[in-house]
Amino acid sequence: MNANLLFGSMLVVSIGVSSCATGGKEQNTGTKPVFSAEDMDLSVDPGTNFFEYANGGWRKQHPLPDDKSRYGSFDLLAEENKEKVKLIIENAAAQNAEDGTVSQKIGDFYASGMDMDAINKAGIKPIQPLLSKINSIEKQDDIVKVISFLQQQGINPLFYYHATADQKNSKMNIAGVYQSGLGMPDRDYYLEKTDDAKKLRDAYQNYLTTLYTLSGHAETEAAKKAELVFDFETSLAKASNSRLENRDPHKTYNKVDINGVEEMVKPFPFASFIKGMGYSVPAEINVSQPEFLAEVGKLYKKEKLSTWKTFLTSVVLRNTAAYLTQDFVNANFAFYGQAMSGQKEQEPRWKKVVNTTNGALGEAVGQLFVAEYFPPAAKKRMDKLVENLRIAFGQRISQLEWMSDETKQAAQEKLDAIRVKIGYPNKWRDYSDLKVVKTSYVENILASNRFELDFDLAKIGKPVDQDEWFMTPQTVNAYYNPLANEIVFPAAILQPPFFYLDGDDAVNYGAIGVVIGHEMTHGFDDQGRLFAKDGNMEEWWTAEDSEKFNARTKVLVDQFNQFEVLPGVFANGELSLGENIADLGGLLISYQAYLNSLNGKENTEKIDGFTDKQRFYLAYSRVWAQNIRDAEIARLTKVDVHSLGSNRVNGPLPNVQEWYDAFGLDAKSPLFITPEERASIW
Ligand SMILES: [Zn+2]
Repeated sequence: MNANLLFGSMLVVSIGVSSCATGGKEQNTGTKPVFSAEDMDLSVDPGTNFFEYANGGWRKQHPLPDDKSRYGSFDLLAEENKEKVKLIIENAAAQNAEDGTVSQKIGDFYASGMDMDAINKAGIKPIQPLLSKINSIEKQDDIVKVISFLQQQGINPLFYYHATADQKNSKMNIAGVYQSGLGMPDRDYYLEKTDDAKKLRDAYQNYLTTLYTLSGHAETEAAKKAELVFDFETSLAKASNSRLENRDPHKTYNKVDINGVEEMVKPFPFASFIKGMGYSVPAEINVSQPEFLAEVGKLYKKEKLSTWKTFLTSVVLRNTAAYLTQDFVNANFAFYGQAMSGQKEQEPRWKKVVNTTNGALGEAVGQLFVAEYFPPAAKKRMDKLVENLRIAFGQRISQLEWMSDETKQAAQEKLDAIRVKIGYPNKWRDYSDLKVVKTSYVENILASNRFELDFDLAKIGKPVDQDEWFMTPQTVNAYYNPLANEIVFPAAILQPPFFYLDGDDAVNYGAIGVVIGHEMTHGFDDQGRLFAKDGNMEEWWTAEDSEKFNARTKVLVDQFNQFEVLPGVFANGELSLGENIADLGGLLISYQAYLNSLNGKENTEKIDGFTDKQRFYLAYSRVWAQNIRDAEIARLTKVDVHSLGSNRVNGPLPNVQEWYDAFGLDAKSPLFITPEERASIW
């Protein structure tokens, strides 16, 4: 759902994996000291494993609940938020508000999702119109018509068609086409020869088989269909870009007109596909993966109508399974929750429905969330912190030994031009055109998808709305958008362990300060540096500086490639490079900002038994405290650009001299890296 949040700006980079895990009920009371010995493990040597030293106690006190694949302080905050959002939703529902009001929509959306009796009773009836449409395919043209129809419902069998800022003219929106069609979370799962990948492929085929049996097919027939679909998807997987390739903004920028697209995807009639959705053909379209489109064209030409019908049916079933009967929900969980992520149990129903309600009416819920939970004082303190971080980053740029004056000048200009959004949007989304009923959950989901598609595609050919947010205020996360050169901090992240409204400076600089610095450096990481201050993709570095930058980041790639995350499985230093640059840069910049705040004085006060400098690094580490299952480690290592929590701590810190100094560590520490081998970028 909400494809526009994900694809409206493909290059948006966030601070952490968006939290989907759920559980416990612990609240941050704000009265507990930020650090106490019980949250740490003082028996661990900080120079051997700083992550465990800082978080060992916390990790023991927060074992993984059965319904979670990862549980960290990040997730805990997201959990607490979910409780708050639930209250907001329940309040809206209790008002029995007039039809068409926002309260009615929030309340009824939630109620429709919680009414399992009605959902079970309806069976697959709510998706029958979609399945009938597929069954009515009689000739090749019909395939395109049906795909257009499904696309309108937010179901994207082959590609995402969306609005996106033009990378070379970033003030304007154009149309974009992006690869889709896979039921497993990454192309690699279809292609890898490892035992684990094979196991997951089997689990996926079982899942597809179950979906077909649940929708009325005999077991053997269902298994045959599943195999057919799997082969079809494997063809798409082979032609899909890898995640690494998709991080390359040059490779994914291929702007053409409609004739250009039709040439790539021939004989698939792309113009008819757009018109079939009810939209006119735009002047400019960016194709992110041309090779993928060529494969779609081949499949369109060669596959039988019956294969297409089977494939399209599977896409509908797996896109709606989570919202159908309990049997469908269980099958969906068995694959995506258990097999993929190692979850033992499903999270309570209400948490899932809070998520979908949040997805469908995000800013309506967000408006209520902000009114209730976001104090104006938090925004004020953040404004100040952000400006202090900007100053510190500027100082560090001017002192860099490896960068030429010419590039420094342009970098300062880009830094000065970064726009900042804190808390919530200036103007809120209008949900007037979204119709929500109390009687059908699936109908509501599909209506929301149509509403989102309309909202998104209406932007094509129009100037970019600078006030738009790609996250809701109640999201625990933050992002940098290179096409707008902006950093964005939703209200929900401005709470412990990120932000302590009453906390001391050392702790706030160590936590939210590093997050701010992290986001700022994204404008200058391996991807963000390819965009200039106005968000346009253009070269503003001298060739020599680019070379030096690449050599310096290579050190970080090599360091992270050495982390063995599971027996025989290593972290992907290239995929996570942008994030690792950001973590290391954020640490250095925020530390500098903290020193600036002391005005040359020494802070000698110990709080909770720790010096200010120790608290800075402990606060940073606390943000990444977590427990995680092996299956989730394997999955995230493949799909997530962020490093695992332990590596976000033990990875960057040994590159930082001030960290060694704060804890009195030296060359005898196992984490020690000699000064010449350290990564040093910002
Ligand atoms: Zn990031």
